[in-house]
Amino acid sequence: MSSQTASASLPPVRPTIPGTRYHRVRKTVQTICVIIFILLPLFDIMRVDLVRQRFYFLGAELWISEFAILFLTMMFFWILIAAMAMIYGRFWCGYLCPQMIFSEASVASELMISRFVKKHLAVASEKTRKIIARIAFYLLGVPPSIFFAFVFVAYFVPPVDLFHRLLSLDIRTAAGIVGASVTAITFFDFAFLRQGFCISICPYGYLQNMLADKHTLLVHFHDPHHQCINCAKCVRACPVGIDIRKGSHQLECTHCAECVDACSTVLGKINRETVINYGWGDSTGDREQDRKWYRSIGLRDGKRIVILALLTIYAIGLSLVISLRKPVLVRIMPNRMTLYTLSDDRLVHNQFRIVASNRSRTPQQLKLSLNGLPQGRILSANQTLALAPGQTVQSEFDVVAPAVVLEPGINHMRIVASVSAQKPATFDETFIAPMESPPKPELPAVGPGTKP
Ligand code: SF4
Ligand code: SF4
Repeated sequence: MSSQTASASLPPVRPTIPGTRYHRVRKTVQTICVIIFILLPLFDIMRVDLVRQRFYFLGAELWISEFAILFLTMMFFWILIAAMAMIYGRFWCGYLCPQMIFSEASVASELMISRFVKKHLAVASEKTRKIIARIAFYLLGVPPSIFFAFVFVAYFVPPVDLFHRLLSLDIRTAAGIVGASVTAITFFDFAFLRQGFCISICPYGYLQNMLADKHTLLVHFHDPHHQCINCAKCVRACPVGIDIRKGSHQLECTHCAECVDACSTVLGKINRETVINYGWGDSTGDREQDRKWYRSIGLRDGKRIVILALLTIYAIGLSLVISLRKPVLVRIMPNRMTLYTLSDDRLVHNQFRIVASNRSRTPQQLKLSLNGLPQGRILSANQTLALAPGQTVQSEFDVVAPAVVLEPGINHMRIVASVSAQKPATFDETFIAPMESPPKPELPAVGPGTKP
């Protein structure tokens, strides 16, 4: 049997699972997403703290100055978004996007309120019922707008601080003004914009259209055997009001699959399969090839394999960089404004400066010690530096050694900074001594009549 015949005899391979109600799947996924959206900033799982200039990511508290980690994280998310758009089309929009979730919730609650008012105010005129329903919808939209604006702003401002500002109705400080503005925008979005944002403003929709190719997952109408009964239920079910039968690449389509459910329900009643499906691009493809596992999850060409490999490399790099990160960052620099000073007790002094930052969430103690300098020691006001979480301390200290034991000019030594939370940090430094040995102290003259 030729492979072409074998392929033709196989049933079609489609990502659409027969009998699946995508609405139910979407609502379950969306509920999980809302919970994650709320928990991420509240538990510092992922948050950019603009006030303290910190980036919280999966339990690590990163400083904005840690550019390498931030750069890797941003690149990772950028490649992830691009990969998702290329392979899974607008899966993000239909299942994961907070804007879509809140838009759908807003439409559903408006409908529910309208029905409620219609049922309980049957005696009122149609116009009165509409006005009452609209006012009720606006009033009920205020608390969720405040709540979700709070969660959104908490991604950038410490939640406890934000809560106090909210309680005191602060609209004077920058954070208070931002909070109030975001609440107003959220309310406007809930009440008026909704899916209009996805259709006309959202950059992800445009990006997705640029990245999509012939293998991208999309929702398409495929009816080679003329099974469609032109009931238009798919059009009525579409939240953005388009007709999927006119083409799969309509910019407004968010791939939510509400039309798939609608068609499955209608045609299911007359024992036919839905003619709207999820599909990898428009082509029906080589069915035998499509049975391979990597093709069935969307890895259908070299470009996708490369982007997956890139993602894996970035993920490994990012986890390595985060795991190797030191909780306490210590920098030691010599003060070469004065090369050395010589004290009355014939000790040579070199001055150093230390900057220590505690990037962990626990208090740390830092101790300095010295190796390699004969009879050398560290002279500092604080032998131990106490570092509170998130604190940066700057201090100065002297390294001293007797002039008589030093090499004239440059001497080498090692300063060790020990912190309990990590391996000691070592700094190979130079110690400058006078080029000429200082005169030896004069001994008192011993002679007749002098007692030793
Ligand atoms: S055409 Fe279908 S998949 Fe696209 S937005 Fe409308 S209902 Fe959703
Ligand atoms: S729901 Fe299905 S059968 Fe009805 S018009 Fe749409 S595609 Fe045709």
